[in-house]
Amino acid sequence: MAKRTKLYEGKAKVLFQGSEPGTVVQYFKDDATAFNAKKKGTINGKGVLNNIISEFIMLRLQEMGIPTHFIKRMNMREQLCHQVDIIPVEVIVRNVAAGSMAKRLGIPEGTNLPRSIVEFCYKSDELDDPLISEEHAVAFGWASPQEIDDFMAMTLRINDYLAGLFMGIGIRLVDFKLEFGRIEDENGDVRVVLADEISPDNCRLWDAKTNEKMDKDRFRRDMGGVEEAYQEVARRLGILPEGGMAELEESDSEES
Ligand code: C5P
Repeated sequence: MAKRTKLYEGKAKVLFQGSEPGTVVQYFKDDATAFNAKKKGTINGKGVLNNIISEFIMLRLQEMGIPTHFIKRMNMREQLCHQVDIIPVEVIVRNVAAGSMAKRLGIPEGTNLPRSIVEFCYKSDELDDPLISEEHAVAFGWASPQEIDDFMAMTLRINDYLAGLFMGIGIRLVDFKLEFGRIEDENGDVRVVLADEISPDNCRLWDAKTNEKMDKDRFRRDMGGVEEAYQEVARRLGILPEGGMAELEESDSEES
């Protein structure tokens, strides 16, 4: 493999410079962290699964007109993306009370919310991604009012679409986190696009019949069956090959 310039190493992904200007390669690791890296581990095959799950979702969202950073999947662990200037505001969408909101507001986990709730967090590892309001984002220059309007409109469409997509395969989309970035087009105009990934690492996905968790909470809460849960999400989306993980891992090792 040609030597590439590493731009950034995150908890679950590494970003390398792409071969074309304005592109990056997003490499998906098996490393898993929780509680801002206070808990660390490995989920075997997670990188491969998140790569194909996120590719599948980004392609569906592009088909419905959501601009994204995704260009194409290159191999089992890497995708080529447009380089973006990440907006340091994490957008969390909640359809069912769970996780930090359930704890913060004393609402039992699993309570259906009367309407979807969108929360913003300031993307900062040092500060543990604190909850903020739109006022903070604008006052501190993290996002302009126009950018917030743009990503809120996209967020609500993404939630409607994904909730339906997952319900169709017997999964409740409890909550998820999105990240957006700025990209400059050929005319020099800057616009907001969906960035990062959408996978069981940043969504809560519950089996619609049994409420069984099929996401990273299995790792966060030491529930076991983490690999199997990620595989089951891919299987229900119809993107796990017939030979299962063995077939995916074989293609992974052939490429590296
Ligand atoms: O922990 P909390 O309940 O706030 O998480 C809400 C949703 O956002 C969950 O689906 C979680 O996986 C995702 N999330 C994330 N990255 C963070 C914080 C939350 O992917 N830094």
